Amino acid sequence: MRLVLLGPPGAGKGTQAARLVAKFAIPQLSTGDMLRAAVAAGTPLGAQAKEIMNRGELVPDQLVIDLIDLRTSAPECAGGFILDGFPRTIAQARALDVLLACKKMKLDAVIELVVDESALLARVENRNQETLRAGGVVRADDNPQSLKTRLAAYRAQTAPVSAYYAERGALRQLDGMAPIGEVSSAIDGALGG
Ligand code: AMP
Repeated sequence: MRLVLLGPPGAGKGTQAARLVAKFAIPQLSTGDMLRAAVAAGTPLGAQAKEIMNRGELVPDQLVIDLIDLRTSAPECAGGFILDGFPRTIAQARALDVLLACKKMKLDAVIELVVDESALLARVENRNQETLRAGGVVRADDNPQSLKTRLAAYRAQTAPVSAYYAERGALRQLDGMAPIGEVSSAIDGALGG
């Protein structure tokens, strides 16, 4: 199963990806997680990405394309993968097509969790409270200013990616405002049970 999960910050992609990882025993490839790990490890990539991420802007396409190219070639991805947070621009979607074709791989599904933008700030705030209660650390970009920028980036750069896949007949849009269990069932239905 090779799957792309699309949706704005707070849409529930991470929650659904975690469930699908367990269900299909395939890895979740989150470019956001990879970049945060690079920042935490203090690598040159992390140094390049840190301030851009903190502002809520998108890092340059080639950085994430290279990450995904490398990871999708790893043996752990032989049985499939879930792309979470990638592709986020049309250039990334095109590059993904090319790199998958080179590896003789194809996407099985592109699922977009459609959510009401006015609910997203509250959702992210809830996620932050849960993280704090569990003793975790809130993401540096989960503040109102960066969130505003992340949502603007989503509207301007990532929303066209839905249209890109819709034109190719690959997109399934699901109601991300439904309770988690219903979203899970809808995804399972879209993936064929
Ligand atoms: P996320 O964890 O998916 O919300 O991503 C957190 C931040 O990492 C984003 O706001 C961007 O700065 C950066 N990022 C993650 N994935 C991408 C991507 N595919 N393209 C560009 N920037 C990305």
